[in-house]
Amino acid sequence: MKINVVNPLTKEELYTIESAKEEGLQKVFDTAKNAQQKIAALSIQDRVKEVVKISDYLIEHYKSICERVVSETGKTAFEALSNELFGICDMIDYYRDQAVKILKPQKVHTSLVLMGKKSRIEFDPMGTVLIIAPWNYPLIQCFVPSILAFLAGNAVVYKPSEITPMKGLYEEILDGAGFMKDAIQIVYGGKETGAALIEQKPDKIHFTGSTRAGKQIMAAAANHLIPVDLELGGKDPAIVFEDVDIEKTANGLVWAAFTNAGQSCTSIERCYVHENIFDKMTKTIVAITNKLRVVNHECEDCEADVGCMTADFQLKKVEDQLKDATAKGAKIHCGGTTVAGTQIIPPTVLTNVTGDMEIIKEETFGPILPIVKFSTEEEVIKMANDSEYGLSASVWSKDLKRADRVTAALKVGNVSINNHMLTEGNPALPFGGIKNSGFGRYKGDMGLHTFCNVKSIISGPNNKVIEPHWYPFTKPKSDTFPELMHAFFTRPRKWIKFALIGLKLDPMGNKEKIKLED
Ligand code: NAD
Repeated sequence: MKINVVNPLTKEELYTIESAKEEGLQKVFDTAKNAQQKIAALSIQDRVKEVVKISDYLIEHYKSICERVVSETGKTAFEALSNELFGICDMIDYYRDQAVKILKPQKVHTSLVLMGKKSRIEFDPMGTVLIIAPWNYPLIQCFVPSILAFLAGNAVVYKPSEITPMKGLYEEILDGAGFMKDAIQIVYGGKETGAALIEQKPDKIHFTGSTRAGKQIMAAAANHLIPVDLELGGKDPAIVFEDVDIEKTANGLVWAAFTNAGQSCTSIERCYVHENIFDKMTKTIVAITNKLRVVNHECEDCEADVGCMTADFQLKKVEDQLKDATAKGAKIHCGGTTVAGTQIIPPTVLTNVTGDMEIIKEETFGPILPIVKFSTEEEVIKMANDSEYGLSASVWSKDLKRADRVTAALKVGNVSINNHMLTEGNPALPFGGIKNSGFGRYKGDMGLHTFCNVKSIISGPNNKVIEPHWYPFTKPKSDTFPELMHAFFTRPRKWIKFALIGLKLDPMGNKEKIKLED
């Protein structure tokens, strides 16, 4: 299948991609299998050295890389730099110091009833990880999971979105950086290609995208019992209490609603503001929004704060939600109308929004900020949790005790206090959602462990001792075990009794062992 790739700002046709042929996919996975053996043979320090090459390359070639990202996504140059390139380098910087510690075998507690044994956990590579990505952050969605999977010792097969395939760019970065050959392979194509890749039975699937596709991918993976991480959509609430600094908070809310033209899974999509400051906060948000410079389709080089929508179908969804909201009584304070003949929709602020509107129920994924009034803490927690999604949220207040209390009550995977989507800015924090936002966590320690076969090991000496819990099950053993349980599991433990029973039980295995014929 041929897919045309367009510049969403200028509508210029950039190039065409040909979906990968199914016959070739087996070869991709064979190549990955071979590469994986070499990756697994590298020490973790050596894997770290490989990924640092990517960071060095990105820093040196940031300008041309950002230009490429801008031309296919329609985001602003600063967003390409700060949200994508910086994010990847920051993540690499974190794991540069942490990977060895996170992946080294961990000693764990061994109960006294297993006296003489030692327990540890080892983190083995899984094999080949398939990563399927959406179009909103084409660089970060590729490199963050791919690098984590690689550090954990896996080979990666990466399928970018057909909307922003960035054809050749990933290869240019990997080859230009001198990154290990074949460790990360790129396969282009649409969802059929994604589905065909799953049939190659990767050892793990890391999927980022819509809830709809997530369900299909999980069903396909279930046929082969392939483990999946699903990073899906969101409908993030921001909760703003009456004691906030209005100007600072309004600036934060505006940024978090409109950055990447609202096409972030953790954009603010519902903003709940306390009734005492509702009018003032709305006025300040609208005033700041009106000052934002929106991209201009006739001036690609002009400085801008807010980009255009990347996908035409997503723009249509945003327009439909706005129509539904206004038909049901929502008031538009600014924005609201697409620039004719373009995919530019200026940042839009809405009030008079109610829970029956699509704009409050469905993921919007566009530069729209609906503001809703609330009166009490209890009420706002209920409204925030009243969603099929559970990705992230934010709580804004000077009262940090209250913010912590509300945070504890929120049914989401991530919360930022007096900020929004900032948990994603810290590579030490695991990221992921609950409910229709998916499951699985990446980044932090879990970000490496999720790409590992977590192997539990217990080790004891190979001496002549026959364990008392082995065959045969005799009456003396059956009588002694309850005594041991009582001494050991009741608190305070009865140490002396436990030791005496242990001394009796330990030799029992040998005493009563099954006698073999000579
Ligand atoms: P999408 O689900 O349509 O596509 C994502 C990727 O999956 C694409 O590469 C596509 O080709 C592939 N795909 C789709 N159906 C498939 C199938 N049945 N089998 C195999 N592959 C398939 O999503 P999108 O429109 O590209 O991205 C937008 C969505 O991504 C939004 O819902 C957004 O919230 C979500 N997202 C989530 C996160 C997160 O971390 N939670 C981050 C970014 C985006």
